[in-house]
Amino acid sequence: MPGLEDLYREIILDHHRNPRNRGELAPPAPHAVGHNPLCGDEIDVYLQVENDVVVDVKVGGQGCSISQSSASMMSQAIKGKPVTEVRALVRRFKGLMSIPDEDGNPIEPDPEVKLGDLEALQGVVKFPVRIKCATLSWNTMLQAIDES
Ligand code: ZN
Repeated sequence: MPGLEDLYREIILDHHRNPRNRGELAPPAPHAVGHNPLCGDEIDVYLQVENDVVVDVKVGGQGCSISQSSASMMSQAIKGKPVTEVRALVRRFKGLMSIPDEDGNPIEPDPEVKLGDLEALQGVVKFPVRIKCATLSWNTMLQAIDES
């Protein structure tokens, strides 16, 4: 029987090979670009926000499998969700990545916020240099939300 790590690897590879919500949205859709110079990752996030709900999201860019699969999972996780839930999910995901909150305290996992496929990225936390790869699309998406 395959172990959890194999399962996680499969999920990451699947999102890398078949990225969800790939593409662009035409202006004036909010659009943000993120770069991770440490790894060379680039992410484009396009949003369509109506009545504080993310009704559509498209992702472009290129880079390592962690950055691209995280972007794919992010797009899947936020599509159709209210902005408040999206922000809660960002917080939950940053907690998973061991990133502290604004006051430098650890983020306690909120059991109400489901991670789904995103749990597959939890192994990334063992490789601090890759955490920036995993969080790039999330920070880029927040920038796009702030523009909307
Ligand atoms: Zn990377």
